[in-house]
Amino acid sequence: MEKHDQLLMKKQNKNLVLDLIKNHSPISRMELAKVTGMSPTSITRIVNELHMQGFVRETELVTSGVGRKAALLDVCGDVLYTIGVEIDKLAIKIGIVDYIGKIVAWQQIERDETESYNETLEKINGIIRLLITEQGFSDEKIIGIGVGLPGFIDYKNGVVKISDQLKWKNVDITADLKKLTGFDVIVDNELKMKIMAEHFKGMTKDAQNAVLVGIGSGIGSAIMLNGEIYRGDSNNAGEIGHTVIDPTGNVCNCGKIGCLATYISEGAIIADSRKVKNIQTIDEVFASYRMGESWAMNLMDRATTFIALAISNILCLYNPEVIILSGNTIEKLPEIKSAIEQKCELYIWDPVKENLKFVYSLLGNEGVVLGAAIQTQNTLLDLE
Ligand SMILES: [Zn+2]
Repeated sequence: MEKHDQLLMKKQNKNLVLDLIKNHSPISRMELAKVTGMSPTSITRIVNELHMQGFVRETELVTSGVGRKAALLDVCGDVLYTIGVEIDKLAIKIGIVDYIGKIVAWQQIERDETESYNETLEKINGIIRLLITEQGFSDEKIIGIGVGLPGFIDYKNGVVKISDQLKWKNVDITADLKKLTGFDVIVDNELKMKIMAEHFKGMTKDAQNAVLVGIGSGIGSAIMLNGEIYRGDSNNAGEIGHTVIDPTGNVCNCGKIGCLATYISEGAIIADSRKVKNIQTIDEVFASYRMGESWAMNLMDRATTFIALAISNILCLYNPEVIILSGNTIEKLPEIKSAIEQKCELYIWDPVKENLKFVYSLLGNEGVVLGAAIQTQNTLLDLE
């Protein structure tokens, strides 16, 4: 075997062992050897290295088969941190997340719709500096920043191609934010970040095929097939908001007519509300719905119908084990869950419903930030 290949294999083995300890801790060296098929000597060598680097520690002692005491291994959450950032039309959320996915510092601020790209980045840098200072961390503890936002993202080159909601076009956010903060930066569509959080510690932990649907300022989905995010050719797989469902329908901000988003997104619902009442925010629409005002009941009834149709189409296309619903609309108006479920019952084809787990995200407000931080770890952590 060539030297280069040997090094690569060593690195892969080390990653494998660390992943196993992270996901199955507490675990013994013996179990690690059994699961990986590596020799006990190799496992001991790798664990020693990981211990020296601060990733792994010994926890309790358990009695092994032959009466000897065996130490169990666990990972150290505080060995390194990543920063997750969610940028939405009206809010910026930032969290510092440790190696085991715990949010140790958090800040959420409002974002002005008219705010420029540079103003938003300056704000983010300010908050990151504040949080790092508050925690008393040195920059070396932080390996990078992950940003999740709505839109068409060239995640390989770190460029936001188009974000209708933020009104950004062709901005090199990874380079610009790196210049400001000094940290390496990755960027992806917010739902693709969020499904990483669900996969690591949420509703799809044990599933290989899952779809996350986000309903709020827009409607979109993220698809996980065989444990990997399915991106399509240009990272737009899952952008169901622009599937046309009525060619004679409403005009969409993408320029087409009758896109799904024009029946479900907050902006579209507010715009339709204004035909009846002077409405400024989605909260006012939801309040009217709760008061039983017929126009609000009608609009939300129509929205739930289209949500159920979208879910039905996704299930026929991808046949996932789990479908997770998430987003502002579900969180702020949880009473529409039963309406969505009833309509799903009507629309979804039986064979794709059979073993389906239909769930709601429990990560709430933190999902995108957490997923962005986890994805940063996956992308930037280089175990030497
Ligand atoms: Zn559209």
